Amino acid sequence: MKDFTHNTYKELLETLKKQNYQFITVEEYFTSTYNDSKPFIIMRHDVDRRPNSSLEMAKLEKSMGIKATYYFRIIYQTFKPNIIKEIINLGHEIGYHYESLAETNGDYEKAIKDFELNLDRLNKFYLIKNIAMHGRPTSKWDSRLLWNKYDYKKYGILSEPYFDIDFNEVFYTTDAGRAWDNEAINLRDKVDTKFDFSFTHTNDIIKALKNKELPNKIMINIHPEHWAKTNIEWYKIFIVRKMKNFIKKLIIG
Ligand SMILES: [Zn+2]
Repeated sequence: MKDFTHNTYKELLETLKKQNYQFITVEEYFTSTYNDSKPFIIMRHDVDRRPNSSLEMAKLEKSMGIKATYYFRIIYQTFKPNIIKEIINLGHEIGYHYESLAETNGDYEKAIKDFELNLDRLNKFYLIKNIAMHGRPTSKWDSRLLWNKYDYKKYGILSEPYFDIDFNEVFYTTDAGRAWDNEAINLRDKVDTKFDFSFTHTNDIIKALKNKELPNKIMINIHPEHWAKTNIEWYKIFIVRKMKNFIKKLIIG
């Protein structure tokens, strides 16, 4: 059965709602502005490319009264001010999906300048309080290392989930590489956790939710570019992804 369709995503959201999860943004989590007697889901989106697919997802969420957090990369193909503005107008939150150390090949001084510049560009549309590393798989540089030398809190940033969320408390899962269990491809987007759930299809998550097997605190990181609204789009994404994962495997070795 085809996974990563908007229909499946809608079913996931409906199930979360039925199971009484409240949808909170990353900022709401870090400012404790939510009801802590109820289970919560932080729906996080990394906007790696194809920002239009994020807009489509943002509209779907809005139609269901749901707020999410969209982390934008600042590269030509992704940084589209009109799309960012529309997503803000739909009531969602924006974060910065930085990759500065990979971008500057490990040059820390250039990297922090790159970070500041991009943060300014985003701040024109939305006061950025939350950042998350983009784990560029083709680079040997892990951009999180930038924070060994600098402090993001200095920029008014509340959180970088990889450092500021305890993933023994909040269960984390991601569709990186367009799979829920893609350990080989998913080099950097991993967290230390005591939870041991394994899903191959989004329906497995839906089933686990219905059986009340999942924790009360959840963060799901979904890349909207992997999810299709139509059949034609689905096959396009499927084929491109097959090729990309094949190439990544060759690079990673
Ligand atoms: Zn990313």
